[in-house]
Amino acid sequence: NLFKKKKIINPNFYKKILNEKKFDLIINCDNKNVISKDYLNKKIFKDYNSSAYTTLIKHKKTNNNKAIQIFTKNGPIAFLPISDIETSIVFSKLDSKNKFDLKELDTIIYNYKLKFKIKSISQINKFPLHFSLARKYHKKNIMAFGDMLHRIHPHAGQGFNMTVRDIKILNSIINEHLSLGLQIDSQIFEKFETRVKHFNFLFSSWIDFIYEFFKINNNLSNKIVKSFGSNKHLKKYLTKYADQGIYF
Ligand SMILES: Cc1cc2nc3c(=O)[nH]c(=O)nc-3n(C[C@H](O)[C@H](O)[C@H](O)COP(=O)(O)OP(=O)(O)OC[C@H]3O[C@@H](n4cnc5c(N)ncnc54)[C@H](O)[C@@H]3O)c2cc1C
Repeated sequence: NLFKKKKIINPNFYKKILNEKKFDLIINCDNKNVISKDYLNKKIFKDYNSSAYTTLIKHKKTNNNKAIQIFTKNGPIAFLPISDIETSIVFSKLDSKNKFDLKELDTIIYNYKLKFKIKSISQINKFPLHFSLARKYHKKNIMAFGDMLHRIHPHAGQGFNMTVRDIKILNSIINEHLSLGLQIDSQIFEKFETRVKHFNFLFSSWIDFIYEFFKINNNLSNKIVKSFGSNKHLKKYLTKYADQGIYF
């Protein structure tokens, strides 16, 4: 029973756990609480000035086992299979002064509907998009985790995958300590940070680079990325990684 789940309502809870030293290790996934603001707030931050629009389409039964991503002029749209009859849609678009008419997304979905015979499109939700990377993962026995460590653009569908990799590594370090009879203390977080931080930095930067690369069509990307844009082989290579992610 290493982990306990609890819904935190009382704002004094955070001060209390800091003062009482009741827990060996604390993992903090909420970026709005006082611990995050006071101790785990150093970040590399980039605003994409974009929003993700997500919805679910119901369609006729089809062999639906492949995620598909299309870099449209308006931004990337991903078709992520949920079942043979349902597909999740993530469309990201640069924010502009002109309000985006949600009906336009329906049109985009129908334009790129691929093999789906669409029955219905559910309510569209909107999320602001930014990139952030934690400079420091932990303070004593409190560690940030999940998107608090690395929030990336959703075009490659890799955000939670990164967290799953982190969980695997953190779990192995905890097990190492348990099997050697070592204490469960902040050393675990130090080891975790040393083991994954450089990798998370490279991976997140790579996902960001791919996003910038494919913005070329909109003439909005920065100069360095633009200079790569004319290289067909690089484009093919990046398309592969944008679609499938990177596996180590
Ligand atoms: C549009 C979009 C599409 C994405 N698609 C993919 C994808 O296809 N594949 C992929 O791997 N990743 C994807 N991601 C990324 C993925 O959603 C995130 O990486 C993941 O949700 C991060 O999980 P988290 O637990 O760190 O943060 P969150 O999902 O933000 O969870 C934090 C949790 O803490 C809870 N919480 C907050 N305050 C309190 C409190 N006081 N007490 C108790 N609980 C509290 C919140 O309710 C919330 O549930 C996508 C992201 C976006 C925006």
